[in-house]
Amino acid sequence: MSFRIHPVMNIIIMIFMTFQQNLIHWFRANQRPLPWRKHYEPYEVWVSEIMLQQTQMDTALPYFKRWMKAFPTIGALAKADSKKVLKLWEGLGYYSRARNIHESAKHLVQKNGGVFPQEYEKILSIKGIGRYTAGAIASIAFNEDRPIVDGNILRVLSRVYAISKPIDVEKNKELFWKLQERLIPRGGAREFNQALMELGALVCSKQDPACALCPVRGFCKAFKTKTPENYPVKSRKKEMVKVEAAALVLEKNKKYLIRLRPVGKIMGGLWEFPEWKLSRNRTLSPAQVRNKTARLAEKEFSFGFEAIRPVGTIKRNYTHHLETLHVFKAEKFEEKTGPKTGWVSRWISKKEFVEYPFSSAHAKIAAML
Ligand code: SF4
Repeated sequence: MSFRIHPVMNIIIMIFMTFQQNLIHWFRANQRPLPWRKHYEPYEVWVSEIMLQQTQMDTALPYFKRWMKAFPTIGALAKADSKKVLKLWEGLGYYSRARNIHESAKHLVQKNGGVFPQEYEKILSIKGIGRYTAGAIASIAFNEDRPIVDGNILRVLSRVYAISKPIDVEKNKELFWKLQERLIPRGGAREFNQALMELGALVCSKQDPACALCPVRGFCKAFKTKTPENYPVKSRKKEMVKVEAAALVLEKNKKYLIRLRPVGKIMGGLWEFPEWKLSRNRTLSPAQVRNKTARLAEKEFSFGFEAIRPVGTIKRNYTHHLETLHVFKAEKFEEKTGPKTGWVSRWISKKEFVEYPFSSAHAKIAAML
C-alpha cells in the first residue's frame, strides 16, 4: 500500500522547507565570525551564552577573548582564584553568572573529568543554566534539535506570523517555544537556531528592520501589511525606579578604604568604596545629598569629618532602576572606631586597584582617583 501526503500538507511542508533553506543560506553568507563558531567547542559555547545573557554582543566579545586567554579549559577555570574570575568579569554586571560558571567548572572537574556534558538534562542541571541556555548549548555545541527562544527570536517570529498576543505573558511564550520547535529542520538546529537569532540581531531589528535585505520577507505577514514595528506586542511597561546613592572615598597615607560586598547581596563578591542608598523616587538637593552622606558615613564609621566634597556623579542602570551615584571625598577625617558593618574592609594603594574586582561604577571611581 503506498502512502500519499495530502496536497495541502505538501504545500505546508514545502513552505516550511523554503523558509528554513532561505534562512540557512542567508546565515552561511552573512553570519558574524564569532570565536566560538570556529570549533563549536562546548566550553566556549557555554561561556559565550552565559556572557550574552543580559549583555550585548559588542560588549561581551572582548570579555570572552580575555576569559579564554586566562582560562582556556574547564580545568584551568576550576583552578582559578575567585578574585581573578570576578576581576575578568568586572563591568559585565550580573556577577552571579561568573560565580556560577566558576563553581560549575569545579563541579565538572570533580564529577565529570572536566568534560562538559552532552545530555540535555545534565546541561540543564548545571548552575546558572535555564531552559533557554540549555537549548542553546545543546543545539549550538552538539547540534541537537532543541528549541530556543530569546528576545531576537521572539521579535522575528512575532513579525513573521503577526502574533498579536503579548510576549510578556508566560503562557504566550510557550506558544513561541512550540512554534520554534516545529520550525527546526531535523538535524540542522545548530545553523537554524543561530540563523534566527542572527536575523533578529542584524536585519530584523527593533526599530527600522531592514526588510529589503531579509531572506524570509516572502513569508512575513508583518512585512506584507507594512506593520513590523507593531510587533512584538507587550502587555505592560515596567515602571523605572529612580534611586540616589552616594559613595565616599577615604584616603589615609596614600591608601584608600574599600570593602567587600557579601555574597548574597547585589554585586556580592565585589569590592566597593563605601556606599549608601539615599532615596527612592525622590530628588534630593545637592545640600541634602551631602548632609545625608556625611550623616550615614559618620554613623557607620564614627568618623569625625571636617568636610566632604563632591568629586563627580556616575549614572548606572540595572533592572528597572535608574541610579545616580554621587561620589564624595572626605577631607580631613579622624578615624575613631573604623567600619561597623561587619563587612571585610581593607586600605589599599592605587597600584593594588587592579587586583580587586569592582562593579563598573566603582571601577570608574577607581579610575577617577
Ligand atoms: Fe523582520 Fe522585515 Fe524580515 Fe519580517 S521581513 S522578518 S519584519 S526583517
